[in-house]
Amino acid sequence: MKNNTEQSSDLLVRRDQWGDVVVLAMNLPPVNRMSLSLRVALDNALTSVEQDDRIKAVVLMGAGKLFSAGADVSEFASGVALQSPNLRDLCNRLDSFSKLTVAAVHGSAFGGALELALACDYRLLECNSKVGLPEVTLGIIPGAGATQRLPRLTGISAALDVMVKGRPVKADEALRLNIVDQVTTSDNVIDKQSFRAAALAYTQSLLAQRAPLRHCADMACAIEEKDQRRLSEWRLQLDANPEQNLAALKCVDAVESSALMPLAQGLNNESLIVDQLAQSPQARALQHIFWAEREAGRIPGLTTNNQEQLPIRSVAVVGSGTMGTGIAINFIEANLPTRLLDTSTEAVENGWLRVLNHYQRQRKKGRLTAEQVHQKMALLTKCTHYQELAESDLVVEAVFENIEVKRSVFSALAEACRPDAILASNTSTLNLNDLAEHSGRSAQVIGLHFFSPAHIMKLLEVVRGEQTSDQVLLTCLQLAKRINKTPVVSGVCWGFIGNRMIEVWGRESYRLILEGATPKQIDSAQQAFGLAMGFLSMIDMAGIDVGVHARASNRSNLYDRDSTYAAIADVLYEQGHYGQKTGKGFYAYRDKQAIENESVLTVARSLADAHGIEQRNICEQEIQERCLFALINEGYRVLEDEIAYRASDIDVIYCQGFGFPRWRGGPMHYAREVGLPYVLQRLRHYQHALGKYGETWFQPSAKLVAEAEALERNTLVSS
Ligand code: NAD
Repeated sequence: MKNNTEQSSDLLVRRDQWGDVVVLAMNLPPVNRMSLSLRVALDNALTSVEQDDRIKAVVLMGAGKLFSAGADVSEFASGVALQSPNLRDLCNRLDSFSKLTVAAVHGSAFGGALELALACDYRLLECNSKVGLPEVTLGIIPGAGATQRLPRLTGISAALDVMVKGRPVKADEALRLNIVDQVTTSDNVIDKQSFRAAALAYTQSLLAQRAPLRHCADMACAIEEKDQRRLSEWRLQLDANPEQNLAALKCVDAVESSALMPLAQGLNNESLIVDQLAQSPQARALQHIFWAEREAGRIPGLTTNNQEQLPIRSVAVVGSGTMGTGIAINFIEANLPTRLLDTSTEAVENGWLRVLNHYQRQRKKGRLTAEQVHQKMALLTKCTHYQELAESDLVVEAVFENIEVKRSVFSALAEACRPDAILASNTSTLNLNDLAEHSGRSAQVIGLHFFSPAHIMKLLEVVRGEQTSDQVLLTCLQLAKRINKTPVVSGVCWGFIGNRMIEVWGRESYRLILEGATPKQIDSAQQAFGLAMGFLSMIDMAGIDVGVHARASNRSNLYDRDSTYAAIADVLYEQGHYGQKTGKGFYAYRDKQAIENESVLTVARSLADAHGIEQRNICEQEIQERCLFALINEGYRVLEDEIAYRASDIDVIYCQGFGFPRWRGGPMHYAREVGLPYVLQRLRHYQHALGKYGETWFQPSAKLVAEAEALERNTLVSS
């Protein structure tokens, strides 16, 4: 019973009229970002609807694969995002519109997209879609009215839970919380046409029921006792780290104000907070790392347009230990048939059981059915003979971190696997080019360095060997996406980007103990900066022995330059104190609680005597600066050596792989925030103040010096 169809003169918003209902479908591919052109088109379309007396209701939806991807962030820097009509204007217009408005959301509606939907009178959500307001994770708060509109719909507590965490909300929860008014049933929406039909039917039923317009200005929002409690709980929790939680704390204030002031005043308050937060270092850092993650894994000149990928239909993992089984779980999750190989039936059986236990735990938590566990385990095959890997498209080696063992594995793989199979190593530190050579097919060899636990950590360091082919590299970068990882490409050097740099952080942590700081002091200083865990607690957890073995392949570069290098870790290792697994390391462990290990201080004193180091009181600033600025300096060396493609890749590795605080943006971003000239000045200070040790390790990188000096020159010119 369609009675009139007309294409809006502006193709960006397609207009279809069905009786007294008009459908406005936003049509700016690929994802309906709310850029100025779309905002103008929507504003014009609303004007024409307003002037047409035949129309009683408007359905706002997306013409393409989703409703909208929200604000167009590329307009932020130029200020175009603020140009009229901006998103805030549009939301206000929709909120006070004289005709019934219904947002029909499919795909997803995050950030600005949900703000637009919240400004409509009613919301219909496709049952597989998600909504959310993730702005806090970018260091800001929603800025087009959601902090005032959402609490009026859901109540204060629910609005806080959604916004402060910035989490995605599935359709059924969105309905329960009143974020939306109706969710389609799974069987009535299969394609876009039927979703539009559902949206029309819903709107017509609202008209038939004479459903009232719902202007937010007329909707009251009360703070009930439970809300009061929730507000206090959030503040208490967030106040523990006010710097880290700046945006979240402001979000709590903004949401509270929805109950304390009229809408117009609340909206003004919200925009004041947004402007304030946009200038904060936290927002800069969080937005930097957000973009860095999207940029990571892009290789200049290498795309799916100019390079074909190899098909990955089945994979194998050699070594069924901690990492091998975690890696296998990634592949199973991507529905890839996976072979697990180890040296003996018993070893591979243990690995297989570890995977099974993982899935059994998921079942106990109600996340999987017994049938699903069975289906997943059916993808995993155990084996002990390399011939069984003959048909695998990709093999990931995860055996002991020992070059001889790995060489023999690569030789065996070269013999057993198809010539076009990709041979990958999960080595943390060893020379990938050496392994490539032992395979006799260097172009097919690559590093896929997973982080532990491999099935949870999102980071994947993809190591590009000297001879790795572009095709192999591109295939692995695409595979990373398939297994839900963030790939960052590294060149070949000891430890690649992540472990090469963390070695420097560790070096300072160890040395500071010899100079008189306690492990607790060192860890606390690092945590005060925002690290998830201090280095010494981390090494106690990972194993002091692991670090000692990893350094073994780099001894000449480290120990020959400095006889105090990691000396404290070596003594603990010789004493059999490996950390948590032996009950003693940098800390002693009683009932899983870390307490001070007096003997570490005794060992430190005797090492200090032996090496002529005078112990002294060391302040928090020195601990933080020595670890952090040495790390940054090494980051510049990594760039100098062309091991990383860009500084932001290093930031991604540190934030995702080493617990570096996202709100600091990673070490390289932090260096620019604090000022490179300042970093250089402090490096030079330690270079001179720490005598021979300083001369050995605190020599500033040439690239850092050049950039810091260029910055200083520019500052002088512009002042
Ligand atoms: P692990 O000791 O838990 O497991 C190693 C497995 O390899 C064992 O099951 C062993 O039987 C098997 N193995 C040894 N030699 C073999 C051979 N010749 N053929 C087949 N299987 C063999 O070790 P892990 O912690 O899983 O480490 C494996 C690799 O992953 C190492 O290169 C390590 O540096 C790297 N890595 C480890 C971590 C970590 O945190 N554990 C993180 C990243 C990378």
